[in-house]
Amino acid sequence: MNSLADSTARRLALRRKAGLYRRRRTVESRAPSDPNLLRVDGTECIAFCGNDYLSLGTNAKVVEACQRAVRIHGAGSGASHLISGHSAEHRMLEEELADFTGRPRALLFSSGYMANLGVASALLGRHDTLLEDRLNHASLLDAAKLSGARLLRYRHGDADALGERLTGRVAGNRMVASDGVFSMDGDLAPLPDLARHCARHAAWLMVDDAHGFGVLGGGRGSVAHFGLSGTEVPILMLTLGKALGSAGAAVVGDDDLIDTLIQHARTYIYTTALPPAVAAAARAALAIVRDDPAPREALQRNISRFRHAARQLDLPLGGSETPIQPLLTGASTRTARIGELLFERGFWVGAIRPPTVPAGKARLRITLSSAHRPAQIDALAEGIAAALKAIPA
Ligand SMILES: *Cc1c(COP(=O)(O)O)cnc(C)c1O
Repeated sequence: MNSLADSTARRLALRRKAGLYRRRRTVESRAPSDPNLLRVDGTECIAFCGNDYLSLGTNAKVVEACQRAVRIHGAGSGASHLISGHSAEHRMLEEELADFTGRPRALLFSSGYMANLGVASALLGRHDTLLEDRLNHASLLDAAKLSGARLLRYRHGDADALGERLTGRVAGNRMVASDGVFSMDGDLAPLPDLARHCARHAAWLMVDDAHGFGVLGGGRGSVAHFGLSGTEVPILMLTLGKALGSAGAAVVGDDDLIDTLIQHARTYIYTTALPPAVAAAARAALAIVRDDPAPREALQRNISRFRHAARQLDLPLGGSETPIQPLLTGASTRTARIGELLFERGFWVGAIRPPTVPAGKARLRITLSSAHRPAQIDALAEGIAAALKAIPA
């Protein structure tokens, strides 16, 4: 038996030695004129690591809606949805999300992580099977654990591998869960093929569209991008903390699905509802996503500009067409050092290492937003080229 002090000290030392130690930086302020220009730990930098792809978190209409709601409802919701925490802002946001995605109903959760846990644990038990893409978000893997269902993983992005899994002996009810846009690679799941296999084998398809909602399919997300229906994808999870710039998540689907979640999803029932002001901010952001294509178009231009600049400089660019642009850098220690060097030079990018990504697949995770300026994007590409040269493999 080890003391707590020994146990934690040993684990931390191992983590540092492997180049996997994670540390936080503190964002002190944001330039009023440029949402990506931050003061972080006392130095100025341009952020290329957030998920606020449409820069809606600082949008004047969104901020104003949030302030207005705070004055009416106060800072918090005061209780869970089933007690007294369900406000008119929550109800209207649910209705607007259902309407926008063309589904009968929506149900808000306090985070995407909790929504995924809630869905799997409400719908599956230990006699059932959950099939997942190998590179699914950690919350979907944890969802399998909490539900008690048997977890079967299939090769990344490989619908035929899923088909083979479904053809084998699979116990109980079968649910297939996939990211719509993969959070660390930026690629899209082959949703039409996944849906076809699910239909053939009577499996329920759930798409986690944390990174597609607001961005793809005219803002309606990856499922709309592929033109799939609510029959083909009966369970859709979307988050409000990424392209919508606020916080929280929703599951959209038919009446009985939503009712079942209200009755059985413990991560819905036993937690405080989002602050109404956060829901108000999400409503204002959703209205912009619905009515104004300009932020999406600006984002698309910036993605193209970065990819063009990266190609010119021969950076190890992947195939992603989404705002998530990974550059594979290999070893964890090298990736961490490159990330540090870029930060010293005024560029903040994610240095992503295992276990978030598979061993040997550490990477810089660059994310673009609609508010990045052309000169910032060009400077980033050049900064990365210089850093890769300064710290060779
Ligand atoms: C961010 C993310 C989540 C979690 O959403 P939160 O609202 O941040 O808890 C779930 N799934 C995917 C794919 C994500 O990228």
